[in-house]
Amino acid sequence: MTSEQAKEVYVFCNVCKKNILLSIPVSEVQKRKGGLLTVVSLHGDPKHSVLFYLDAEFRVRGTDATTVFQKTEEPTISTTPKSSLPIEQPKGVLRIDQILDHFGKKSKSATVNLSNFITQMILGNNAYLVETDQSPGKPIAEFISMLFDDQNVSLQTIKTGENEKITGLHPAVFDLERKEFLTEGMNIKTHYFEQLLKGALETPNNILSLQNELSKIFYSYAILREILNADDATHLDTKLARDIAIDMALIPILLKMIESEGINTKDRIEFDGLGRAIRSI
Ligand SMILES: [Zn+2]
Repeated sequence: MTSEQAKEVYVFCNVCKKNILLSIPVSEVQKRKGGLLTVVSLHGDPKHSVLFYLDAEFRVRGTDATTVFQKTEEPTISTTPKSSLPIEQPKGVLRIDQILDHFGKKSKSATVNLSNFITQMILGNNAYLVETDQSPGKPIAEFISMLFDDQNVSLQTIKTGENEKITGLHPAVFDLERKEFLTEGMNIKTHYFEQLLKGALETPNNILSLQNELSKIFYSYAILREILNADDATHLDTKLARDIAIDMALIPILLKMIESEGINTKDRIEFDGLGRAIRSI
């Protein structure tokens, strides 16, 4: 089977804590008809099988460590109606649409702002939510921290005027009362996370896709750092993406993360992926 006939996507497996490549025949994708693709993947050492529910963007909407007996590593694929996916909204936690209400006066600006805030945290910049009595930051901070699971990120809630508490080179400071950034951190495109947030609003289990994507990024980032620190070799972006087990769309943000650590990537990455995309238009 050639790559034209299969959609390849990485998902984060919570059992082995690794990114797993799923290769899904296009013919199976076409059968989905509005439902979720259900993919059982057998992988790892020791071998285990995990069921992933994927939405139209191939993002994980649910997982289940399964006892289904798999003979081969070829994934078993079926479709499931969206409505049959259990909603796992943790008790006492805000929903993502409630969080977005605090990040902008309109849904478009809120999505852009929250995307940027999350991206700054991924980049390792200190993040601050400025709260007032009317706009309490703690439940919002709890929600955002939950997205990052057990990753080491810096997020604090401060009161209006407590500027002395802000530290770091590129702090991201968001005022919940005014619903705007006081300082935006580093300049980076956040389109990927905007799409992710929009998708998350449309389906149940809305935070799972965000958690899975963030886990993917941090898993690959650790490998990328090892590879680039090992020697001065140059790398082709398409091969690098495969070596660090991540989708091409996430390569730019990973390179930005590495650059923010002072590691030069400018002369070391050849961009075959972009060239190929342009040639294929
Ligand atoms: Zn696994």
